[in-house]
Amino acid sequence: MSLEKFTPAVALESLELSPTGLGAWSHSKIKCLKNCPLQFYLKYVLKVKPLEKPPISLVTEVGKAAHRVLEFMIKGKSLSDSFKSTRKEYESVLSPEEWDQHVMSLEYSMTTFREKMDVFEKKNPIKRIFQEIRIGVDKNWQPTGFFSEDVYFRGVIDLAFQMENLDALYIDHKTGAPVIMGIRNFQDQLNTYKVLFHHGIEKTTGGQAGIHFIRDGETILDDYASASEIETSLKNRVEFSIEAAIDSVKEIGFFKHKRGNYCNYCDFNENCKAGEFKATVKDSQKWFPIKEIK
Ligand code: SF4
Repeated sequence: MSLEKFTPAVALESLELSPTGLGAWSHSKIKCLKNCPLQFYLKYVLKVKPLEKPPISLVTEVGKAAHRVLEFMIKGKSLSDSFKSTRKEYESVLSPEEWDQHVMSLEYSMTTFREKMDVFEKKNPIKRIFQEIRIGVDKNWQPTGFFSEDVYFRGVIDLAFQMENLDALYIDHKTGAPVIMGIRNFQDQLNTYKVLFHHGIEKTTGGQAGIHFIRDGETILDDYASASEIETSLKNRVEFSIEAAIDSVKEIGFFKHKRGNYCNYCDFNENCKAGEFKATVKDSQKWFPIKEIK
C-alpha cells in the first residue's frame, strides 16, 4: 500500500534538496532528517496526515501539564493556584489517578525550581522574562515571523531571561529525562536557543542555557558563550548540521526509513511496521540525481 491510503497535503512537482529547499528548519526537524529520512519526507515534505489520530500519550500530556504549571508559577501565581488552573485545563485528558500520580507528585520539585528562580532573580538584575517564546529568522539570520514565508530557522524556548547587561539565560523544561542523563545530548538544542534569541529577538552580550529536569528538581547549565562565539561557531554549527543531514540523505539516494527508539513517538509507526510505505520510499528516488557509475 502506498500513499493513496493517506492524505498528503501537497502535490509536489519538484523538490530542491538544499537548505532553503527543505526548510524551514528547527532543531527537531534536523534531528528528524538525521534519524529517519522517511519520517522527514512524510511529515515535512509531503505533509502527510496520519489517518487516525494518534492515541493520547500519557507521557506527552503529563509533560504538557507540567510545563503549564511552571508557566503559571513563573507568571506569579501561587503553587496551589498553578496546579488548580492546570488541573481545570487537563480534566478531560488526565484521570484523577493519573493527575495525582504523575503531576501532583511534581509539587516538591516545582517548589524547588521556584525557589531557585527567586534566588537567581535577586542576584541578577533582569530586564525581561519570556515564556514559550517563538522565534523565527530568515536565511540571513534576520528576525522574521515564526510562520512567515521567508522563515529559515525557528524554535520555541520554554523560558528565557534577558538580563539588564544583555546577557541571556535559556531554560528547557524536561519531564521525562532524568538528571543523570546530563546535558550532553541536548547541547545542540541549547545552542540553537542562543543563536535564535541573539539573531531573532535582540543581540545579547552572551548566553548560557540549561535543562530543567522537572522530575528530579535539578537544573544543569552549559558553558557561557560570548556574542562573537554565538555569531560564528554556534551559528555555523547549526548551518553545518543542516547541510550534513541533507548530504547524508543525498548519499543514500532516497528517503530511507531507519528504525530506532524514536519510532515509538512516530505517528506513522504502525503503518511503517506493516511495510505500507515501501512504494513511497521507492518513489522518493525521483528527487535525487542519478549517480554516474564510474
Ligand atoms: S516508524 Fe520509525 S522508521 Fe518508520 S517512518 Fe517513523 S521514524 Fe521512520
